[in-house]
Amino acid sequence: MTETEKDIKLRGDLQMSLTYLPGVGPQRSKMLETELELRTAGDLLFYFPYKHIDRTRVYAIRELTSEMPFVQVRGEILSYEEEGEGRKRRLIAHFTDGRDVMDLVWFGTGAMRWVRKSYSTGRVYIVFGRPTVFNGRINVAHPDIENADDLRLGSMGLQPYYHTTDRMKKYGMNSRWMEKATNALLTRYVWSLTETLPASLLERLCLVGRTEAVLTAHYPQSADALRRALYRLKLEELLFVQLGILRISEQRRTGVRGRILNRVGPLFNTFYSKHLPFSLTEAQKRVIREMRTDMCSGRQMNRLLQGDVGSGKTLVALMTMLLAVDNGCQTCLMAPTEILAEQHYATFRDMLGDMGVRVELLTGSVKGKRRREPILEGLRNGEVQVLIGTHAVLEDAVEFKELGLVVIDEQHRFGVAQRARLWEKSELSPHVLVMTATPIPRTLAMTLYGDLDVSVIDELPPGRKPIETRHYWEERTTALYTGLRREIEKGRQAYVVYPVIKESAKADMKNLEDGFAQLCEVFPDLKLSKVHGQMKPADKDAEMARFASGETQILVATTVIEVGVNVPNASVMVIQNAERFGLSQLHQLRGRVGRGADQSYCILVTKYNLSSDTKKRIRIMCETGDGFEIAEADLRLRGPGDLEGTQQSGVALNLRVANLARDGQLVQLARDEASALLKADPDLSHPENAALSQRLTELSASNYDWGKIS
Ligand code: ADP
Ligand code: MG
Repeated sequence: MTETEKDIKLRGDLQMSLTYLPGVGPQRSKMLETELELRTAGDLLFYFPYKHIDRTRVYAIRELTSEMPFVQVRGEILSYEEEGEGRKRRLIAHFTDGRDVMDLVWFGTGAMRWVRKSYSTGRVYIVFGRPTVFNGRINVAHPDIENADDLRLGSMGLQPYYHTTDRMKKYGMNSRWMEKATNALLTRYVWSLTETLPASLLERLCLVGRTEAVLTAHYPQSADALRRALYRLKLEELLFVQLGILRISEQRRTGVRGRILNRVGPLFNTFYSKHLPFSLTEAQKRVIREMRTDMCSGRQMNRLLQGDVGSGKTLVALMTMLLAVDNGCQTCLMAPTEILAEQHYATFRDMLGDMGVRVELLTGSVKGKRRREPILEGLRNGEVQVLIGTHAVLEDAVEFKELGLVVIDEQHRFGVAQRARLWEKSELSPHVLVMTATPIPRTLAMTLYGDLDVSVIDELPPGRKPIETRHYWEERTTALYTGLRREIEKGRQAYVVYPVIKESAKADMKNLEDGFAQLCEVFPDLKLSKVHGQMKPADKDAEMARFASGETQILVATTVIEVGVNVPNASVMVIQNAERFGLSQLHQLRGRVGRGADQSYCILVTKYNLSSDTKKRIRIMCETGDGFEIAEADLRLRGPGDLEGTQQSGVALNLRVANLARDGQLVQLARDEASALLKADPDLSHPENAALSQRLTELSASNYDWGKIS
């Protein structure tokens, strides 16, 4: 290839391998691929800096304080000097701006050697770094240094900083290198970017064009320009996510016919008037109405029910299932663990009493032909009306005669694919209700569970006393044990939760085995249970049952008890090494108590040294019991990364610029704009939406990996 041919090739093709980019070559492009997953010119173009630093301003040494972030100073090195012994050995360059002197410092023999070689006295440099004060003198450790002649500072504006990995840095591929590479790329490629958004949208929302946005995101002229560029790129990204989600849910809505379950029959009525021991909360009534509307609509219901622990979701599920049974359908409730499935089974049988509904339990431990076959047979011939189980209900052997409604409890353990397998169990797709006690903020829900409608129970049954949450340092064991004994002497029970089962390499964590031994010594007169994930399910269940029946007073456990377990008499939840747990996990654990009418307590035990984020988490736990508030705080502190991993909408969420935690309002805007676009032009066939439609197709081809999940 001649240079011009190469150049022409370079100019047009965003799909081109980075190998051909000047200054990259095969080895570095390999590195970019393995370390940052950047393969093509287009990938690198959209690999944006994580920060920018203002390089327009040059400081005088006398202006510097240790409060300043990065600063740059122009001047010369007067002399070098080495100081200190051993690990503290360091190279110091006395640097002057012509008026005052400050010290540049390097540690490590390697650095000391190349610094001396690279920067000589008497030449003018621009030194760049974070100032600190040491021995009354301004001091910059490991600064960036460049020849003053090479930089025209005034025109540099904001300098981009790119994340690279340690491995890359070893080969000289640091932020500076990335800057050069993207710069080379931008000058050639940025003009081949095409606009993806319709002109009317750009105009109405005053959005920067795509080319300008990409350029500016790398090399902004001002902080304001950067903000506008990122705004546009984020909105674009989120808009395509929302368009994808809305299309999928629209397809489901129109493509999937739903059974019409419009009869309110004797089972529902009898239960409501005779069996229900209390009146429903307004929120529960509203949610049941919402689901009834769905099930009468002729479309398949796909609803997410959010409600804090103890808000009465299970009861709502039960009543909705009765509605379905009244319409001649079978129903299935799927729980994530055996303990939970068994508990639901017991609750259902208890509540339904002698109403003559056939309820069966199917879990991995229901083994053997003699026990399983009658259940499977009953499902096939329609005699089993309510099936409660774990993943076991997904097995091929499980066939229903007429499955009308599926309820999935604690959905975060079940993905879209598993939901889809349940649909296959019936000719007409059953209605689907997904319940979660891990509430997530609305903007996130609409993205992660975009194809589900959302109902919320935002009210607890009356008479619940808020759980009192306290923070104890781990040294306060006496106070902790005294408190525990006091509650147990009142006839209550307690949970004590540990982060790990056995002593581990991370020695500063308390473990369940030691904790159990210690508690046995402290409370020789009490009976203790022990439950953890490495026990056989049968043993685990037996221990749980002992605790649930009141035979044992203290349950020592790992987080296996996090989900759903209900022992109303338990009034104390002690969480050891609470600093190890995330907010929503703490909240879930706390939800195991406070289920009876008595005052309950949650004790968060931590070590003394806590990071500021951990302190915030503990404080939020002590201050509020509101799951939604906690979810919002969790998202702010932790970011949505974990949630993105569990995304269920079927649309991939590898967001490059937008952040679901911080850009909530933009998510909403993107959602609104996406619905408006699809409403005006459902298949995006107007000429104005041509680019949009093409981009969406490109994205779906690479993103919606349905093949993988089925
Ligand atoms: P969730 O599944 O949301 O955690 P549950 O349905 O298990 O909550 O309900 C928790 C407890 O509250 C159960 O013992 C249930 O019987 C009770 N409960 C549910 N709804 C009400 C209500 N409206 N009034 C009083 N108690 C209720
Ligand atoms: Mg529940």
